[in-house]
Amino acid sequence: MTHLCIKTSRPYPVHIEPGALRHLAEVEEAQVADRFWIITDQTVSALHLETLIKHVTTLFPKTNWMTSTVVPGESSKSLETYADLLHEGIERGVSRRTVILAFGGGMIGDLAGFVAATILRGIPFIQIPTTLLAHDSSVGGKVGLNLSLGKNLVGAFYQPSAVLYDVSFLKTLPDREWRSGFFELLKHGLLAAEPFADQLMDLKLSDMKQLPLESWIAKGISVKQRIVEQDEQEQGIRAFLNYGHTFGHAVEYASERLAHGEAVGIGLVFAKMLEGQVVEANQLAQLLTRLGVELPKRQSFEVYFDYMKRDKKNNQSIRFVLAENGKFNLEEIPVGRLLSAYDMTVRCLKW
Ligand code: NAD
Ligand code: ZN
Repeated sequence: MTHLCIKTSRPYPVHIEPGALRHLAEVEEAQVADRFWIITDQTVSALHLETLIKHVTTLFPKTNWMTSTVVPGESSKSLETYADLLHEGIERGVSRRTVILAFGGGMIGDLAGFVAATILRGIPFIQIPTTLLAHDSSVGGKVGLNLSLGKNLVGAFYQPSAVLYDVSFLKTLPDREWRSGFFELLKHGLLAAEPFADQLMDLKLSDMKQLPLESWIAKGISVKQRIVEQDEQEQGIRAFLNYGHTFGHAVEYASERLAHGEAVGIGLVFAKMLEGQVVEANQLAQLLTRLGVELPKRQSFEVYFDYMKRDKKNNQSIRFVLAENGKFNLEEIPVGRLLSAYDMTVRCLKW
């Protein structure tokens, strides 16, 4: 059982435990809501919507509720789905006292959060994450959409009223989604340089579901918490959360089948190579294999380089988050050094 309070411009609680949904009763915005608007995807709806509705109707028997269900997957984090949700919400009578329940993984959190941030100039929302990766996305208040030109190019900083993380929802996650969340967790561990990261590095896939998930998730969230509390709007150190993401995003864009966190795992190997930490890069590569990550078809350096240039965090030069003597920095890296890190990454991953 873990409870945190994220002290951003609008502080909010994070409850991580089986049965975390009961804390909905304590959320002020929920207490005065005229209705709950559950936004979810078809997979989560089929597996867990009944449980959520049971909680909502037991805790708030007099409050109306409605559900919107979108197609699962990144393609729903789009202007089209966003516009459909706005129309549906307005047609069905959403008011400024309606509370959105973003029920799903990071895709739903980002999409429903952006609807909440913008419909009627902003209504409250509560994150109810159902994936391991969402330990990252549900905290920190970044919400938004993808454009065909790239990921997360439209968005806002908009904090939820609460995060209710019922870890029992995670039991139905496919292995690929476990891995995806795991590498994001590992990123948080590496950023904090905690023994927690060493424990994660030793893991086998079969261990993964047995482990003390709540405390892991809480550790991951606390790392993110420390950073976003100091830099809510990404003026500085919040960019460190992109560790492993510059090359990771390029790999993700260039291959359709890889989950986000799996691509970040590959990106972390690349970052370690840039840092000259060859031993750690090799350990990470072994971990990727041990956890069963299937490497995508490898593209040439030029293809990845083009994607990295297009990534929104890189205007002219390519900047990387890198660690030096345990301290993180944002560094501009010349192409030659990127190319040699790429060659070393390919060799180390036998890619
Ligand atoms: P996701 O929401 O697409 O979920 C992954 C898949 O798992 C989907 O097919 C979904 O239907 C399924 N799923 C969800 N919960 C399930 C459950 N309990 N059992 C079985 N299946 C389940 O994606 P994700 O991996 O959770 O998150 C990725 C998204 O998060 C990306 O859009 C990324 O940009 C975003 N993100 C945002 C932030 C942020 O700060 N806002 C940070 C990291 C990632
Ligand atoms: Zn990520």
